[in-house]
Amino acid sequence: MKPVFRNWAGNQSVTPAEVRSPSSAAEVAQAVRDAAARGQRVRMVGTGHSFTGVALTDGILLRPEALTGVQEIGDGRVRVAAGTPLRVLNEELDRRGLALANMGDITEQTVAGAIQTGTHGTGRDVGGLADQVVELEMVLADGSIVTASEGDLFDAARVGLGALGVLTAVTFRVEPAFLLRSVRRPMALSEILSTLDELTADNEHLDFFWLPHTDTCLAKTNNRSPGPADPPGAFKHWLDNVFLENTLFGALCAVGGRVPAAIPTLNAISASALSASTHTDTAYKVFTSVRTVRFLEMEYAVPRERLGQALRETRDLIELNDWRITFPIEVRVTPPSDAWLSTAHGRDSAYIACHIYRPTPNPAYFEGVEEIMTRLSGRPHWGKLHTRDAAYLSTVYPRFGDFTALRDELDPHRLFANDYLDTVLG
Ligand SMILES: Cc1cc2nc3c(=O)[nH]c(=O)nc-3n(C[C@H](O)[C@H](O)[C@H](O)COP(=O)(O)OP(=O)(O)OC[C@H]3O[C@@H](n4cnc5c(N)ncnc54)[C@H](O)[C@@H]3O)c2cc1C
Repeated sequence: MKPVFRNWAGNQSVTPAEVRSPSSAAEVAQAVRDAAARGQRVRMVGTGHSFTGVALTDGILLRPEALTGVQEIGDGRVRVAAGTPLRVLNEELDRRGLALANMGDITEQTVAGAIQTGTHGTGRDVGGLADQVVELEMVLADGSIVTASEGDLFDAARVGLGALGVLTAVTFRVEPAFLLRSVRRPMALSEILSTLDELTADNEHLDFFWLPHTDTCLAKTNNRSPGPADPPGAFKHWLDNVFLENTLFGALCAVGGRVPAAIPTLNAISASALSASTHTDTAYKVFTSVRTVRFLEMEYAVPRERLGQALRETRDLIELNDWRITFPIEVRVTPPSDAWLSTAHGRDSAYIACHIYRPTPNPAYFEGVEEIMTRLSGRPHWGKLHTRDAAYLSTVYPRFGDFTALRDELDPHRLFANDYLDTVLG
């Protein structure tokens, strides 16, 4: 039987014509030339952490496992092979006393997969991973291997959806390793909404999780600290990150899935169990978590000044429809990005992420929230579920036309296309 590629959430899969695991830019270039000669399409995948069909191909599917490793470190930069998992990059940097300035919630993704969809964390001063990239090496549709560190190709391909070429190496800006002091505390949603400006201005990294059916949020603020390190003990770490956020949470989701009427009570119990805690640890350990409960996710970036309205409307919508939502809604912020298709392109942005337990999808919930977000000029995360097409997206990305024109020039025969790109890029 032919191998199948399946994503993390299990909602996307494909059986491509061929699977290869190239170990060099030259082998990627060969695969691209072979696909072109056979009239097939070609794409590289990451670790399949996108919820959309962005990674799928029916042609030659390139796996990332052999294209990994740190290639060069120095002068405040690190160059890594495109298939390197973020987890490996973080550990290698830490060993050398270096770090990325900011990152998202998990470290399973490959560096190329993460930047291609605009993966971001939360930050007042530093944006998503693509904003920390200083150079790309990539294979274009004609089989040539090019590098870009400025200009149109660089600004387009950093968040390129794999539509402009196959990345073979990514160079990030890095800095001396640093500690973050993490403060977690329960806060009322109403209090957060009335102090949003101060909260985002006063903290380098603000992230909060609102528990639907309650007025309670878990607010996390991470700020640089001179130390000393005060990491959570092994038991506390397991209790918070493994047991409470995954094992117990997974069990609550399963109960809620079987008895939806119990969800508001379960959320109220979770809200009352939240407590304040602080610790100081190596930055990447504070930024990232483990996620084992399988979910589906939609996330929209709205102009930062519209966050309050977006959240209030989302809360009212859930109450009005009497939907039962177990998963918290996560809110993050970033500064503007200059990557053309970054969800934060050209504006201070706030991200609102809705999750649903994988075994109990609720399309009406995502549709309703999407209606609010699009009314507020929201941009959907390229790797998370949404229903927007090129007609809509061209109205919210000022450089959309420049991106598609560059794509026409670089990939006129649509070697790198797939159904998802046909929808979102036209
Ligand atoms: C549990 C979980 C937590 C998450 N947390 C966050 C978060 O905190 N913040 C956030 O923004 N997102 C988050 N995401 C979304 C995730 O970061 C993105 O979907 C990301 O793109 C996944 O990376 P990947 O390596 O799995 O790539 P895939 O999903 O496999 O691929 C993503 C895209 O990259 C392309 N690609 C991969 N490698 C190459 C290459 N070498 N050259 C060209 N194109 C390539 C693929 O073709 C595809 O288009 C999360 C997802 C999950 C499941």
